[in-house]
Amino acid sequence: MADTDILILGGGPAGGAVALGLRRLGYSVSVVSEPRPFDAVEGSSDRAVQGMQAAGFKHALQALAAPSPRQVTWNGETSAANTERLIPRQPFDRGLLQDLAEQGVDVVQGRVHNCQEHEGAFTADVALTDGGELQLRAPFLVEARGRAAPAAGVSRVKGTQTVSLLQYWQGEEAEPKTAVESFEDGWAWMAMRADGRRYLQLTLDVASANLPPKRELDDWCRARLERLEQSAPFMAGAKPVGSIYARTSSPVLCERSAGDNWIRVGDAAMAVDPLSGNGIFQALSSALQAPAVVNTLIQNPERAELAKAFHEARIEGLFYRFARIGRDFYAQESQWPDRPFWQARRQWPDAEPLHIEVTPEVVTTGMRPVVENGLITEAHVVITPDQPLGIWHLNGLPLAPLLDAVRAEPERAAAEVLADHIGNDKGPLLANWMRQQGWL
Ligand code: FAD
Repeated sequence: MADTDILILGGGPAGGAVALGLRRLGYSVSVVSEPRPFDAVEGSSDRAVQGMQAAGFKHALQALAAPSPRQVTWNGETSAANTERLIPRQPFDRGLLQDLAEQGVDVVQGRVHNCQEHEGAFTADVALTDGGELQLRAPFLVEARGRAAPAAGVSRVKGTQTVSLLQYWQGEEAEPKTAVESFEDGWAWMAMRADGRRYLQLTLDVASANLPPKRELDDWCRARLERLEQSAPFMAGAKPVGSIYARTSSPVLCERSAGDNWIRVGDAAMAVDPLSGNGIFQALSSALQAPAVVNTLIQNPERAELAKAFHEARIEGLFYRFARIGRDFYAQESQWPDRPFWQARRQWPDAEPLHIEVTPEVVTTGMRPVVENGLITEAHVVITPDQPLGIWHLNGLPLAPLLDAVRAEPERAAAEVLADHIGNDKGPLLANWMRQQGWL
């Protein structure tokens, strides 16, 4: 039996970011992770890469390919606006475990097959990857096993059931690139690596896709792919390698993501469908502030409710923001309004706009949980429809008291009031900034 302060189940981007953050706070941390069963390739944006750098990933980032062009065919139009970096997940995940080990995390490679809480401690039974069994025990648990994490009695909000079917193809070496294309029953993501590996993925509605028996699935997918405008360069001269792998990609949100001695992060707490290509970014976003939540639950249990509310509000906020981004993108596709795939997705999760116009009447100030010195505390913040969790500082200036000061003297110019508090050089600049935000 090995004891540690914090036991983290799952060593993907979320578990990895939390592990490094907790090490920096001085905790002993064990991460248990097994390799993913198939070699997924995913796309990553620049801001996800920045998030990984901020988390302290180094070896993991070496697995990323250089940015490659991305073409999108949506609603009958093709655009080539941006680039993405391909991430082969197996080497990326291996690099991540190496980063953890080098930064003082105890890394255990194996499969957790049982995890129980007893008298305030969690015990995990692990089948080690190179044989044998290990039991790990800790007073605090971080659940980061991604979509594979058991629900453990936590109820979940689920979106439309979605599945992604993916297959590798192999052809000649080629210029790396990716493409997204909609079709009447879903959308495809196609990726080409420099070594000629191609990754072809169809995302479909579970209820209406009418999938054939497994033995006919290869032909069924090929027929759909061949009809796509963008697929020719990905399929020409190439052949499928291995069988089709199905990944669940339905949106899911856990209604509770923190307790007094446990927390869920990343896809284990919430996952949206892969359309946005932001899964890793979201996983990191949910994980980067989690060490402060864990630290507060351990060091300041009297602030447990505040810390749990902070974490859960962040998880829920991220989930609905990305779900609405997805909904609006699905709604831009209007060629097949009666097909079940599109009908369901352009109205989920709700009809609330992604952005609500910020005008002075809807901007308030109030107390909200914030992260300060590695702990969750309460602070006076500015609350807007776009930032319901509040905005605390701008370049070190606490914004809520300054906005309140401006509002307390409506007859004076904001720049003048602010100058009284922060000086003649900064006052007018901040007044201008507040006006641009719609606060004044
Ligand atoms: P994961 O990365 O899933 O990490 C969890 C880890 O826990 C894994 O290493 C797993 O092997 C391990 N584990 C699971 N069970 C056990 C167990 N019992 N014992 C030990 N270890 C275990 N995101 C993007 O940014 N870009 C994309 O292009 C993209 N495409 C996607 C396509 C599909 C079809 C899907 C389903 C998702 C896609 N995502 C994409 C989302 C992305 O994969 C996840 O959001 C992200 O990896 C979540 O990180 P995580 O750390 O929470 O979980």
